[in-house]
Amino acid sequence: MIAGVLVEITNKSLDRVFDYVVPDHLIDDIKVGKRVEVPFGPRTLVGFVLELKNSSDISNLKEIFKVLDKEVILNKELLDLGRYLHKTTLASLVSCYQIMLPKGLNVKSNNKVSKKLKKLYYLNDIDRKITTKQQKIVDLFKNKEKLSRDELKDVSSSVLNTLVKNNVLRVEEVEVYRLGYEKLKRKINHLTNDQEKVVDNILYTDKIVSLLYGVTGSGKTEVYMELIARCLTKGLKSIVLVPEIALTPQLIKRFRERFGNNIALLHSALSEGEKYDEYRKIVRDEVDIVIGARSAVFAPLKNLGLIIIDECHSDSYKQDNNPRYNAKDVAIKRAEDLGAKVVLGSATPMLEEYARGLKNVFNLVTLDKRVNGKELPKVELIDMNKEVGKSKGYFSLPLIDEINKTIEKGEQVILLLNRRGYSSFVTCSNCGESVKCPNCDITLTYHKSSNILRCHYCGYATKYEVTCPNCHEDSLKDLGVGTEKIEEELKDLFPVSKIIRMDVDTTSRKGAHQRMIDDFSKGKANILLGTQMVAKGLDFPNVTLVGVINADTSLMLPDFRSSEKTFDLLSQVAGRAGRASKSGKVIFQTFNSDNYAIRYAKENDYKSFYKEEMKVRKLMKYPPYYYLVSLNISSKDSKLALVEAKKCEKVCHKYLDKTIILGPSPATIFKKQNIYHYQLILKYQYQDNIYEVLEKLVNYYATINKVNLEVDFNPIHL
Ligand code: ADP
Ligand code: ZN
Repeated sequence: MIAGVLVEITNKSLDRVFDYVVPDHLIDDIKVGKRVEVPFGPRTLVGFVLELKNSSDISNLKEIFKVLDKEVILNKELLDLGRYLHKTTLASLVSCYQIMLPKGLNVKSNNKVSKKLKKLYYLNDIDRKITTKQQKIVDLFKNKEKLSRDELKDVSSSVLNTLVKNNVLRVEEVEVYRLGYEKLKRKINHLTNDQEKVVDNILYTDKIVSLLYGVTGSGKTEVYMELIARCLTKGLKSIVLVPEIALTPQLIKRFRERFGNNIALLHSALSEGEKYDEYRKIVRDEVDIVIGARSAVFAPLKNLGLIIIDECHSDSYKQDNNPRYNAKDVAIKRAEDLGAKVVLGSATPMLEEYARGLKNVFNLVTLDKRVNGKELPKVELIDMNKEVGKSKGYFSLPLIDEINKTIEKGEQVILLLNRRGYSSFVTCSNCGESVKCPNCDITLTYHKSSNILRCHYCGYATKYEVTCPNCHEDSLKDLGVGTEKIEEELKDLFPVSKIIRMDVDTTSRKGAHQRMIDDFSKGKANILLGTQMVAKGLDFPNVTLVGVINADTSLMLPDFRSSEKTFDLLSQVAGRAGRASKSGKVIFQTFNSDNYAIRYAKENDYKSFYKEEMKVRKLMKYPPYYYLVSLNISSKDSKLALVEAKKCEKVCHKYLDKTIILGPSPATIFKKQNIYHYQLILKYQYQDNIYEVLEKLVNYYATINKVNLEVDFNPIHL
C-alpha cells in the first residue's frame, strides 16, 4: 500500500503530497486524515495522510515510520475545507490543515495524559479494632460507596493510606479534564416577544446566513442561546464564535448557567494541556456546544447545525498571518456544505455585511430596542477645542463633574482611551525629532512605570533618558497620551476612588483579565479605565457613566475603514452604560465634533452612518463596491523590494485587465523588524482569473529566497 503524505514543512515549494510505502504492520492502522512520521531527506517529519492507493509512479519509495493518531483527526469535511482555504488564501495547504488543529495536539503533547483524580471505594467492614480517626472516615462512607478526594480534603492522608493498606478502602484513579467547573444554578430567561420572533425567523428562513442587527443590550446573546437549545432538540450541535477579548467569564457563565458542562471552550488563554482536553471533548463527541475565538470555527463537531458569530464586525475574525482566512467565510462554507445555518450578530455590522442584508443575500433581522425597555444612553459631545485652558489635563470639566456625581451615588464609571502606555511618542523640543524604533519605522511609546520606551510592533525596549539620541541635548519630552498617564491623572483628580486599569500591559499574566472583571463587577473599584478591551461584551449593571477620553484616536489612522472603526468603537463603548435598571450617560471628548462618524455615534444612528459611509466607499472604489487584494513585497534589501514590487505590478497589469492597480508604494509601516515592505493594492469587481494569476506569482516567489510576497484577499487593514 502507498500513502500520499503532506509533510509539515514551511518551505512552500515543498507543499505537495509525497508518496511513501506503508509497511505491513501499519496497514490496519493507517487512515486518510491521520498524521504519520516519515523520513524526509536527513530529517524525520510529521505529515498528514491525504490519500491511500495501490501503486505509485515513483520507484524507490521510503517507508512510513509510524502512525501518530489513534483517531482520524481530519475527516473528509475538514480535508475538503483545507483545500478550499488553500485555494482562496493561497497559503500552503499544510498551513491550512495545521490551523484547524489546536496547538496542544502536537506530537509531544499528544500522549499527554490528563491529571488524575483519585477516587476511593469502600470495600468491607472492619473486623479489627480501629482508631477513632479511622472510624470517622469509615463513617463518611455510610450510605455511600465512593467518595472523591475533594469530599475527603479535611481528612489526613496518612490515616487514609493506612485504611487502603488494610484493604478497607480501595483507590482508583480516574481521568479528569484540566478545566474544572463548579456547578452553576440553571437559569433560563423567557424570551420577549421580539426575541421570540427573531428566533423563529432565523430558524425558518431558507437563507443560510442570517444577520442579526441588534442594538447593544437588545438581548442578542439570549437569542443565540435559544437558537442553540432549539438545535439541540433536533440533535444538532453549535459553534459560537466571539472575539478573543469578549470571551469573558461573564459570557461563559451565562452559557454555563443554561447549558451546564455541555460546552467545550477554545481560546488563547488556555494552557496547551487545557486546549488538548477541550479538543478531546469535541472529538469524543462529549459536548454539543463549542465556544471560542476565531479558530474554533474549525471545531470537528458531528451534526453541526449552527454557527453563531457574535460581534461579527470584529477584526479578530480575520487572521493576519498565513493562512489569512476570515472565520466568517469559513463558517459560511461549512454551513453550505453541511446544510447548517450561520448567524452573524452585531450592533454595528460591517458595511459589507449590512449591504448584503439589504440586498437580501443575507436574511436581515433586527432587534431595535433594549430588553430593559430603557432608551439607549444619551451621549454628550465635548468639543475639546473649546475646553483649552479650562480642562484639567486630559479631562474636561463636564466629564470630571459627571464622574464625581456617579461615584457619589455609588455607581460605576467606564473610561476608554484606545492607547496603552504613558505617552504615545517622545519628541525632542530642541531638534524636533521623535524617538523611533531602530528596527521599525514607528515612534516608541513611553511606559512610565518601567521607565522604558517600547516598540509596540517588535517589542524593542530601551531605557528612557532625557538626552535626545539625535542632537544630544537634554530636551526629550513625552507627548500624546496613553492609559498609564490617564490613570495617574485620575488618581490626582479623584484621590479617594479606586481605579482598575485594563490594557495589554496590565492583563498579560494569566487570569489577570478575569480577576479585574470580577473585582469590578463586585464593586471593588469605582472606575474601570482601559483600551478597547473595556468596550466589548462587558455587562455591568452598576455602570451608569461611560467616558471616552479621546474619541479621535482611530480617526486619523491611514485606513479606509478608520471612520467605521471609530463609529464601532464609540457605539460599543457607549452601550456599556445603563444596561440594567438604572439609566446611563455617555460623554465623548473630541477635537473633531463635526466628524460624521462621531456625530452618528453620538446619535446612535447606525443607518445614517451606513448611508454616508457607503457614499464615500462608492466614490473611493472601496468595499463593499469593490473587492480588495493587498500584495506585500518585502526584503531586507529595500532596493530589491522595490524592483520586485514593480515586477509584480507589471504582471498584474498584463493579466488583470479589469482591475485597478495602485502602487507600488511603501507600506504603512515601511520598515518592520529591519525588513522593508512595499505594497500593491488591487481593486476589482469582476476579475475571474485573479486567483489563478496571483497563485502563479506566489508560487514564483516561494522559490526566491531574498524576497517575500504575501497576498491578502479582502484585507482588514491596508
Ligand atoms: P446583547 O447581547 O444584545 O448586548 P444581552 O443578551 O447581553 O444583549 O442582554 C442584555 C441584558 O438583558 C443581559 O443582562 C441579559 O441577561 C438580559 N436579558 C436579555 N434577554 C432577556 C430576557 N428575555 N429576559 C430577561 N433578561 C434578559
Ligand atoms: Zn520595533
